[in-house]
Amino acid sequence: MTDAARRPRVLSGIAATGTLHIGNYIGALSVWAKEQDAYDNYFMIADLHALTIPENVYADDLRARIREIVALYVACGLDPQRSVIFRQSDVSAHATLAWILGCATPVGWLERMTQYKSKSEGVSASAGLFTYPALQAADILLYQAEYVPVGDDQRQHVEITRDIAQRFHHLFGDVFTLPQPLIRDSGARIMGLDDPSVKMSKSLAGLRDGHAIGLLDSPKTIHRSVMRAVTDSGSQLDPEHISPGVKNLLVLFETLTGFSREATLAKFAGQGYGALKREVAEVAVEKVTEIQAGYRSIREEDTAIDRILASGAQLAGDVANTTLDAAMRATGLR
Ligand code: ATP
Ligand code: MG
Repeated sequence: MTDAARRPRVLSGIAATGTLHIGNYIGALSVWAKEQDAYDNYFMIADLHALTIPENVYADDLRARIREIVALYVACGLDPQRSVIFRQSDVSAHATLAWILGCATPVGWLERMTQYKSKSEGVSASAGLFTYPALQAADILLYQAEYVPVGDDQRQHVEITRDIAQRFHHLFGDVFTLPQPLIRDSGARIMGLDDPSVKMSKSLAGLRDGHAIGLLDSPKTIHRSVMRAVTDSGSQLDPEHISPGVKNLLVLFETLTGFSREATLAKFAGQGYGALKREVAEVAVEKVTEIQAGYRSIREEDTAIDRILASGAQLAGDVANTTLDAAMRATGLR
């Protein structure tokens, strides 16, 4: 048994739905990278999840995006020697277990999912968008993951994963580890710069300029997006009245610099919002520039991406197929 196998296991991933943004970095990727030595790590590029809204999928884009995300994972600090990085669709056990778990999931549970409600608004929703939590449960349960490091918006999905596992256990017997979410205290829900009432997201970033800070944005674009960020009708930072837009800028500054709220307020209190925005833009550009340097060097040797995915598919597949086999035996399929 290797050292890694004795550590608690984590599984997480990002859907291949668009270019990653600073919310994905702060809420998920930076946490994964920082904690790599504490866990036995499995991180997937969730390409099957990208099909849930097929109107947004263009095959060539999806293929390119998957490679972009692998390179960004590494550029953000995931080390392929310490973390298994793999593409979800390379391990067919995900889709097979998703079917089995879907059959053990009451429709009423799926109807309560807030992400389904918000993403199905105004579109003719696919069955895949509706049953997506069963696939996500399969993603997590296949790896017997103890922890799932995610942003705050995914809390409900980890909860339904536990519920689905328990229902499966009740019906067929124990097979899965019950996972817990790992969610950071501050920075787990970065809001849209253009609308601080909605979470910053890849899908909205593709539709609206100035919504997100993209990890591959130019310094000029980042400056423009941050300077245009929605604040409130005031003009100076008043620690007694912090609106959602201003709070979002404070959280961005704090998580990117390590400043406490107290130190941040002391730095900016009584100053105009312009000063806060300029500093947020500056620290964001600094972080993104560092990530982009790593990204470019990985892309220069693009075959490295193929090697990472080939080895990830093998290592992830070994673990996933063992669990799938146990689930199939429990149900009588084997
Ligand atoms: P999509 O619009 O396709 O849902 P997304 O930006 O919400 O894109 P996901 O792939 O759904 O990204 O989520 C990847 C990870 O990033 C998850 O752990 C999620 O909780 C986290 N995350 C997403 N958005 C934010 C955010 N604004 N702040 C903090 N964490 C986030
Ligand atoms: Mg999302």
